[in-house]
Amino acid sequence: MYSTHFLDIPPLSHASGTVVLPGSKSISNRVLLLAALSQGTTLVHDLLDSDDTRVMLTALSQLGCQIVKNGSSLGSTVEITGLDQSTSLASAKLYMGNAGTAMRPLTAVLALLAGGSTEFELSGVPRMHERPIGDLVDGLRQLGCQIDYLGQDGYPPLLIKGINEAKAFNLSEPIKVRGDVSSQFLTALLLALPLVATQDIVIEVKGELISKPYIDITLNLLSRFGIKVQRDGWQKFTIPAGSRYQSPGSIHVEADASTASYFIALGAINTSSKSTNSNENDVFNGIRTSIRIEGVGADSIQGDIRFVEAAQAMGAIVTSGPNHLEIRRGAWPLKAVDLDCNHIPDAAMTLAVMALYADGITTLRNIASWRVKETDRIVAMANELRTLGATVVEGADFISITPPTAADWTTGAIHTYDDHRIAMCFSLAAFNPAALSIRILDPKCVAKTFPDYFEALFSVAQTAVSAIPVITVDGPSASGKGSLASELAKKLGYHFLDSGALYRVTALAALQQGLSLEAKDEIAIAALAESLVEKLHLRFDGDAIMLKGEDVSHAIRSETGGMHASQVSVLPLVRQALVKLQHSFRTLPGLVADGRDMGTVIFPDAPFKVFLTASAEKRALRRHKQLISKGIPAILDDLRADLEVRDKRDSFRSVAPLKPAQDAKLLDNSDLSIEESVDAVLDWWQSKQGF
Ligand code: C5P
Repeated sequence: MYSTHFLDIPPLSHASGTVVLPGSKSISNRVLLLAALSQGTTLVHDLLDSDDTRVMLTALSQLGCQIVKNGSSLGSTVEITGLDQSTSLASAKLYMGNAGTAMRPLTAVLALLAGGSTEFELSGVPRMHERPIGDLVDGLRQLGCQIDYLGQDGYPPLLIKGINEAKAFNLSEPIKVRGDVSSQFLTALLLALPLVATQDIVIEVKGELISKPYIDITLNLLSRFGIKVQRDGWQKFTIPAGSRYQSPGSIHVEADASTASYFIALGAINTSSKSTNSNENDVFNGIRTSIRIEGVGADSIQGDIRFVEAAQAMGAIVTSGPNHLEIRRGAWPLKAVDLDCNHIPDAAMTLAVMALYADGITTLRNIASWRVKETDRIVAMANELRTLGATVVEGADFISITPPTAADWTTGAIHTYDDHRIAMCFSLAAFNPAALSIRILDPKCVAKTFPDYFEALFSVAQTAVSAIPVITVDGPSASGKGSLASELAKKLGYHFLDSGALYRVTALAALQQGLSLEAKDEIAIAALAESLVEKLHLRFDGDAIMLKGEDVSHAIRSETGGMHASQVSVLPLVRQALVKLQHSFRTLPGLVADGRDMGTVIFPDAPFKVFLTASAEKRALRRHKQLISKGIPAILDDLRADLEVRDKRDSFRSVAPLKPAQDAKLLDNSDLSIEESVDAVLDWWQSKQGF
């Protein structure tokens, strides 16, 4: 996950390959709640691991559910043992974050389960306290539930109080609930009311029900848990008397169809695909040009799967099989559409970004529910689309987008409003014809439904190598460039290349094989350097450097390790042998590379180069302090003498001598802390970006 303040996505040109999507948020949280209400244990496969499901899991375990997780990544399972409903639940304060799919159903369930003096407090992030819940509370109050508002009337936080045991729920009248603000109110009642179905319970929907497909998911999952709700049109729902939750034993969570929309769009706007109809066009320069999505197929129970039809209307070519979709570009530019999106409210945001690549004005209608989601999505989408140069008209329940011409595209920092979907759909703007980078602010907001979204995007998206930014940080030994460069990489979410480590590992491997580090063994050492990854299984694993399965980071980081590296690094064949490996670090979204010749030899086209120039005296002092703090004895004068030997060897060798690139920025960091150096470099970099 990218937990940086922003993520700059370079202009992308092409995408192909397979993505395995995480489980659906809507299905995951419904399944968790239903499992908690069922007797016995339910094994849930492929549960989404995200902020919203974590909120639900934490709340359920606070309420007394037993939850056992097996593995934490995709493909993991969670075992849930239902709540013991024979005794009343203990009071609890539950934090709902910004998870509507936890807040609404738990409110209904707890209002029905709270007995006697039990109290439940449900609160969330500030935005959650702006999301309406009054219609659900009104519905529950009709039944006799006791719910108080702790803040503003109609909004969380809520205090749910136990009802007097003697007082029965008023089930004889139909329960009326509004359907035109959020379908989650109806879902909440449908999920909770079987708890008290001593007689038939009728729910009547007031107003036109929005987001009907989400109700379909609810009904479908209720039926998997033994509850067959009778539906009369979309206005009347009956929960039969005697309904009881029955665990299916094990259940599989489909991948999120709304999340699939980003990759369906990616397939449709994939600019390198020359394909129109024929399959042989699926191969471009030997690479497949279609996007394959695993985990969800056209037969999905999720309403957002109908995004496929909308994408097809805009020109995408989509084929589907069991549990997978395959997408290629068809019409180009995409075809502008005028669509009622009530049935695909979440995925419709992706259409708004596809509209940037369309041949006219795209209008998305009947999307008033956007206004009460994670943020007011109509305002947010309009603002950010304008940042890119689009002309946008927004209304109470529609948005209309005129794309910029190729020359009129602009770029800027995309605000994401703590809304995962805004972050994900705007990443697609990186395919813009003006080849502009896109900055996504607060990229970690995708954690709500897909923590590794950007990783998945970068695993299938490609661009010209020259478009992938590299920041080079060169300088003499102990100049602090390693710490500076790795800190910089962290702040930018870029990859990090510690090229010195490659020379250090090469020297270590050579010594292990009984070679000398002299020119006479140059060919053998170069052969070793060439095979570091394939034969010696060199891996960078966080801070650890693994060679043949063994962590060698300590061994190579010693002063002697540095001296040995400096010896092999004068050998031209060794330097040559390491070039390809160093280039392989230049992948999306960018790279910070530290060393001696990063800016001069390895990445001469890097858009930004830094050269550190701290004095030998200061560098020796720093290194001395560092070693002493680690309990390693060291003598200052010796350290300084060693550094000077290495500097001299690095600066006067015939190949790639240590020197600043002509276009490098010099930074004397003698009197700067690491943080100050990082800030200085970041400021320079930012001023070049123009965001
Ligand atoms: O940066 P570090 O101290 O780990 O580098 C160890 C040695 O490897 C340096 O003294 C230098 O001789 C060599 N080196 C190099 N070119 C690089 C990185 C390191 O010659 N790009």
